[in-house]
Amino acid sequence: MHILVIEDEPKVAKAIREGLESENYQVTVAATGEDGYFLATTRAFDLILLDLMLPGRSGLEILTALRKQKCQTPVLILTARDAVEDRVEGLDTGADDYVVKPFAFAEFLARIRALTRRGRPEQALRLRLVELELDCVTKKVTRGKQEIDLTAKEFDLLEYLLRHQGHVVSREMLARDVWKVTSRATPLDNVIDVHIARLRQKVDAPFKKNLLKTIRGVGFVLKEGDA
Ligand code: CA
Repeated sequence: MHILVIEDEPKVAKAIREGLESENYQVTVAATGEDGYFLATTRAFDLILLDLMLPGRSGLEILTALRKQKCQTPVLILTARDAVEDRVEGLDTGADDYVVKPFAFAEFLARIRALTRRGRPEQALRLRLVELELDCVTKKVTRGKQEIDLTAKEFDLLEYLLRHQGHVVSREMLARDVWKVTSRATPLDNVIDVHIARLRQKVDAPFKKNLLKTIRGVGFVLKEGDA
């Protein structure tokens, strides 16, 4: 479970990071709205914790831009006690919930658990990008009218890429979420690259447009058009 924390106050950010890490969440902190927006639109997170009072681009502006970009990641707003209007506006803008600072950590964790749980059952059973379609129930993959035969691992890999379509997925994320390996002692980079190459042979090679792109030094992205 990877959480993006967009919070400019170092003390608050540090406390949140330490608290969440002790609960085994993976945490990335962005100290400005711009950094937070960049991370949220280029990497996949399970939850975004968003402070509203940020220097530069405000939390509400970030949230508006994210929802406009069709970013569906649950957003939990962090707000000051007296900013009732902001809270309402935040929820109207597409936040999923809010907590008032200073907050009790137990309640904060409960909100996070509720939001990250909520995301799961809603997961689509049919994923699609342009004419590429994956059915999670029948395990069938098609592109246009052509059926594509994938191994179980290739299927899992494609499902993950489709769920994160438009977002860059790193080898680290694939190792963790698709191969379920978190130890750095067993780097999977070569294994991942081989699977990506095979997937590309099946999903892209026979067709006109390539959907699976490599972002040098970062990872991969499944999307239409230029990477
Ligand atoms: Ca702040």
